[in-house]
Amino acid sequence: MNRLKKGLFLFCLLGLLASFAGCSQNENQSTEPVGKVYFNWFDTVSYVYSYAGDPAERFEELSAGVSGILTEYHQLFDIYHEYSGINNLCTVNRLAGGDPLPVDPKLIDFLLYAKDLYEKTDGEMNILLGSVLKIWHDHRTQALDDPSAAALPDQDALEEAARHTDISLLEIDAEKGTVRLADAAAAIDVGAVGKGYATEKAAEYLQQQGAASYVLNIGGNIRIIGQKPDGSGWNTAVKDPEDPENSYAAILKIADTACVTSGNYERFFAVSGKQYHHIIDPDTLWPAEYFASVTVVTRDSGLADVLSTALFCMSYEDGLALANALGGVDVLWIEHDGTLRYTDGLADKFTN
Ligand code: AMP
Ligand code: MG
Repeated sequence: MNRLKKGLFLFCLLGLLASFAGCSQNENQSTEPVGKVYFNWFDTVSYVYSYAGDPAERFEELSAGVSGILTEYHQLFDIYHEYSGINNLCTVNRLAGGDPLPVDPKLIDFLLYAKDLYEKTDGEMNILLGSVLKIWHDHRTQALDDPSAAALPDQDALEEAARHTDISLLEIDAEKGTVRLADAAAAIDVGAVGKGYATEKAAEYLQQQGAASYVLNIGGNIRIIGQKPDGSGWNTAVKDPEDPENSYAAILKIADTACVTSGNYERFFAVSGKQYHHIIDPDTLWPAEYFASVTVVTRDSGLADVLSTALFCMSYEDGLALANALGGVDVLWIEHDGTLRYTDGLADKFTN
């Protein structure tokens, strides 16, 4: 799990523990927040916490429900492994250029969602960027394995890969329940949206079960379900990109919403002293350079995940216009010199 998002959650947890200290309970309720940690989704660490004072059996039941949902989406979205009896995104990529592949209706819904968000973000969040992202991924892996072999991608190779990223190559037949990539060199990568989308499905389940005062941190995608028992929000910290290990750039008090950050310090490698991070601007095919981090606060965790990546790849003016057009979306942009810019809706959320 990246450190910003871990720190963000831990800060949230500490704030909650403090606020719970003076609460009274009835005898069937636990005195402290209860939580579970999971290591098996999206190659990262996740937490499910309840601050509702639920009896232990209810927390067990609800966290098992969340676990089932996230395990299913993890398997459907995995682009590196296949699972017996499931046609997942790894299968779709492997069979690129071949026949339409029958897939689970949940995968169809997700791909339709991602295609719609491609349009809404003017192509800045593109799950068909897989061929380009693979080049960056391979160079990052090589550099991290052996820093002396660190090298930048070849521009011609990036441009050749970019010829296979048109979103129309993803053919979805919702009636027949099939998916096909119409180009053997095309590939899907859902790193920008998969965790947030799956997190929202888990949040929907909790809400259907009548749960409140739950917090999900699924690999850094924070989704708060409801409010604190006293009706207030949680202190949620956004790390300082200049010193993500030790300091925060902002602390926001929020409830009943999602909070997702994309940052240039999350995954990167260095060549000749310059850092190259993991969020690729589709317009340049190189790491986006507009901001150090972008945090999106909006109710839907899937949208927050999509927008944190997309707004990272566009100017402040374009991002602000998109947030305003979508409505219900708040954003905190952190520039390279540490300047904070934010939407009006966040103005009264800062506690620092
Ligand atoms: P996030 O941390 O949510 O911003 O997602 C970053 C991940 O999404 C990267 O590790 C890539 O797998 C993928 N990605 C990077 N740039 C883009 C982009 N412009 N559109 C879609 N996916 C991207
Ligand atoms: Mg994202």
